[in-house]
Amino acid sequence: MASVSLKNVYKYYGSKKGKVEAVKNLNLNIRDKEIMVLLGPSGCGKTSTLRMIAGIEEISKGKLYIGDNLSNDLTPAQRNIALAFEDYALYFHLTVKENIALCLEAKKINPNIVKKRIKDISEILGIGDILDLKTTTLSGGQQQRVSLARALVRDPSIFLLDEPISHIEIEKRYRILAEIKEINREFGSTMLYVTHNQTEAVAVGKSIGIMNFAELQQVGTRDEIFNNPINLFVAGFVGQPPINIMKCKIISEKDIIILKVENSSLKFIPEAKIAKILYKLNFKEVILGLRPQNIHIRKISDKQKSIKGIIEVMEFLGEDMYLVLRSGDYKFSVYCNVDMGLKKGKELELFYDQNKLHLFHPKTEKIISA
Ligand code: ADP
Ligand code: MG
Repeated sequence: MASVSLKNVYKYYGSKKGKVEAVKNLNLNIRDKEIMVLLGPSGCGKTSTLRMIAGIEEISKGKLYIGDNLSNDLTPAQRNIALAFEDYALYFHLTVKENIALCLEAKKINPNIVKKRIKDISEILGIGDILDLKTTTLSGGQQQRVSLARALVRDPSIFLLDEPISHIEIEKRYRILAEIKEINREFGSTMLYVTHNQTEAVAVGKSIGIMNFAELQQVGTRDEIFNNPINLFVAGFVGQPPINIMKCKIISEKDIIILKVENSSLKFIPEAKIAKILYKLNFKEVILGLRPQNIHIRKISDKQKSIKGIIEVMEFLGEDMYLVLRSGDYKFSVYCNVDMGLKKGKELELFYDQNKLHLFHPKTEKIISA
């Protein structure tokens, strides 16, 4: 069993005085054979987390379990983990083939099997024709593919991949991702995949953990994170085009709670159960998030409410259309199916479902939910 569990894990760098808290109270469970993605902006602690699991960076505080075994003090070799790092970490005096073979030879695997595995993995990653070159002569993308091959050629219990395709040519990336997933399935390994790129994250893992400022914010599927973000950071970090964020005053008109967007004539009506909470807590302000995909140019249900905006930007993206509209000083975006009837400068009535409004506490930025 190669489940991986981090319990209240911290990572500090530096002295007590100039201390950097790179990972803060991290609790994460990766089930046996699961692919989990850790997604977050640069500097949020992803690599530190990976290095602690690999055993090449000490855990400052907390516990790491691999399977049921407390593993803080195991050496990297004892953990049976394969790694691929963003900075490749290749041996430059060796050829591509020698780099890939290194760990297999150390494990004393039959040379014919080694040969076959290297051949298979090289074909998959498109490096079959450069096996005899020294790694110094390769492009960044090729070096990264070699680094990945070195990890994938092993049959580890756990794969740890840190931004493993960030330097690979864009047109090859998603095919390689598909192969990584396939290899993982074949070996039945557990995988932690780190990236700052949300498109990649969604392509790799069912389970995505979002980190920011050294802390894990939320773990969930793509849909859970997209539809039910637990705070403003998660809402803003995931989704393309980004979610529309609006600062609202809470007013009451004819006994109905209304969210009035600052410097704009936009008004939104929250669901009754949310209105009740806002009223009870005596909120004066709230932050509202509404995804561009959840604003529609055609009314499809009587329950939908409407807003208005003037079209400022229209961009056709194949079958879809990206609009920027303005109401007062506030601009918001809409992502919808192509509609030929629209014109720049024209006022447009748009529709939203009340249950798609995300409301966040103005100070804590946490979701307000019923
Ligand atoms: P990410 O991989 O998400 O970009 P890292 O884990 O590399 O984040 O870094 C998290 C924080 O820890 C950053 O502030 C970074 O500068 C700091 N950090 C990382 N490695 C070291 C180190 N060896 N010494 C000191 N600070 C470090
Ligand atoms: Mg990193």
